[in-house]
Amino acid sequence: MAGEAQADCLFCKIVAGEVPATVVRETETTVAFRDINPQAPTHVLIIPKVHYPDAATLAAAEPTIIADILRESREVAAGDKIEDRGYRVVFNTGTGAGQTVFHAHLHVLGGRGLEWPPG
Ligand code: C5P
Repeated sequence: MAGEAQADCLFCKIVAGEVPATVVRETETTVAFRDINPQAPTHVLIIPKVHYPDAATLAAAEPTIIADILRESREVAAGDKIEDRGYRVVFNTGTGAGQTVFHAHLHVLGGRGLEWPPG
């Protein structure tokens, strides 16, 4: 069924507490944790507790959860005090865009200057 936890999904295991993660925030619908391979002083991933392979399928099926994730990104930025300098939120969608984990996740990056365009 759409949204159900997948046995072979790393991020579903983080949601279930079966794989450790440095969790910074949790809500009814989302979990935010520090990326294991940070690309900036703040690099937090915000994921839905339900399983969808990417942001596009999540947005189509449960758009309110995309709103929850974006609302949480603001809280993460405030918690890490990176708002003044600016920060970036990214949904890599598809392998060509660099997606490697196929459970929707928003990257929150900040704490240093960020170049544009991204690589
Ligand atoms: O957008 P993409 O799919 O490439 O992002 C996956 C992210 O998940 C990577 O930044 C990677 O460092 C992170 N990751 C993690 N903890 C794991 C495995 C991957 O934070 N156990």
